[in-house]
Amino acid sequence: MGLQDLYQEIILDHYKKPRNAGRLEDASVEVHHYNPVCGDELTLGLRLEGDRVAAIAVDGQGCAISQGSASVMTELVDGLPVAEGLEKAEAFRQFMHGEIEADEDVLGDGVAFAGVAKLPIRVKCALLGWMAFKDAAVRASAGESSGETVYGEGADESATQAMEQARKEAERGSDR
Ligand code: ZN
Repeated sequence: MGLQDLYQEIILDHYKKPRNAGRLEDASVEVHHYNPVCGDELTLGLRLEGDRVAAIAVDGQGCAISQGSASVMTELVDGLPVAEGLEKAEAFRQFMHGEIEADEDVLGDGVAFAGVAKLPIRVKCALLGWMAFKDAAVRASAGESSGETVYGEGADESATQAMEQARKEAERGSDR
């Protein structure tokens, strides 16, 4: 079996049997993230005890890359101090953007997403769960309990801002 086949199997295994799947009854924070490019979405519940991830769960639907990656993420950050979980999230983001080589000691099954880094559209899928964890950790630390985020990076964000700007200008126009 070639490396690509092995990686494919790892991703499909996480997709078919997602680890830490479902909703957390006693989440410190719950966030909903959506990737409009592919239609992937997930609700991530995070429970912190002190500065440690005491429990994490993901309830989602979408492509194998988005759901498989979220499953890998939960496995990696569960039980870790939040700061270490965020370091892994940053390492995975850099790995997906081709800025660093994957280190299996840091990213575990996450290394299986190496092929995805070469497909910019799918990178958003692979990062969805990780960005949701980052969002949830930041919100939990700030004492917030929930949040809703449409996944956006770079071009998407500026498109949203441009739409917002256009809407405001249209409103101003109608006042006159
Ligand atoms: Zn996707």
